[in-house]
Amino acid sequence: MTAQLIDGNALSKQLRTQAAERAAVLKARGITPGLAVILVGDNAASQVYVRNKVKACEDNGLYSLLEKHEATLTEAALLARVEALNNDPSIHGILVQLPLPAHIDAQKVIEAISPLKDVDGFHIASAGALVTGMPGFWPCTPYGCMKMLESIGYDLKGKHAVVIGRSNIVGKPMALMLLQKNATVTICHSGTPDLKAMTLQADVIVAAVGKRNVLTADMVKPGAVVLDVGMNRNDEGKLCGDVDFAGVKEVASFITPVPGGVGPMTITMLLVNTLEAAERA
Ligand code: NAP
Repeated sequence: MTAQLIDGNALSKQLRTQAAERAAVLKARGITPGLAVILVGDNAASQVYVRNKVKACEDNGLYSLLEKHEATLTEAALLARVEALNNDPSIHGILVQLPLPAHIDAQKVIEAISPLKDVDGFHIASAGALVTGMPGFWPCTPYGCMKMLESIGYDLKGKHAVVIGRSNIVGKPMALMLLQKNATVTICHSGTPDLKAMTLQADVIVAAVGKRNVLTADMVKPGAVVLDVGMNRNDEGKLCGDVDFAGVKEVASFITPVPGGVGPMTITMLLVNTLEAAERA
């Protein structure tokens, strides 16, 4: 079997068109949806992510405010900026790009963001909303994965989903979203003794580890759907995921590529969350 590709670029394009339409409706009512992005320091990867987020806003009719601060910014000064943005009616979503410099407590900063503007979905209130099935903002990467499953018409009811990775931003919220759609969910991590025994039982596998070739063809049940969240570099320095794409695509029914898979969906869902925040406001 050669798997069908779930094309994150194509799906993003479609969803961003819808987002632009929602932004236009808000604008007609005199509300321009606004996202504030705060970058502290000069982490090269963060600069690229932030640039892409700002551009996505601009391309789709959202207002974006990019705040760049020196790495020496104090925690108190950053908290003050977050508070000011919480009170700024032109801003509907606030994103503090992680990682932050070591002298700043990232969790404290995230908790300072108003849950009404927590478009990254990292606030403890957003996490609680996801656990309890209440309305709130879903973290963008796993939310994007759910949209990818939706795009292929995949019904999770009665299916076994295996999530590899248990971070607060990807693995755990991913598992909760799959659970909410009635999948039976297994979460694997670095202490899982026999990963292959778990993944071989899976109808859906989400790999969110950050290591190349964590998932190889012999670990995948024929016909499984494989979503690859990982972002790594191969020996040639090219972007690659956690999945051995060449091998696994011969076994899976659907697979996401890297690049062009989950990556673009993350930014798309950030736009969706920001629109949601503006509509609620
Ligand atoms: P993370 O916080 O480092 O978490 C990685 C998880 O993988 C941990 O739970 C860890 O287990 C688990 N793990 C490590 N080695 C393992 C192994 N051999 N077998 C099974 N599990 C293992 O990373 P993250 O923030 O979740 O990100 C994961 C990957 O996704 C990274 O490559 C990141 O760059 C990428 N990412 C992509 C996007 C996107 O937009 N495409 C967005 C976010 C993240 P323990 O908990 O036991 O340590």
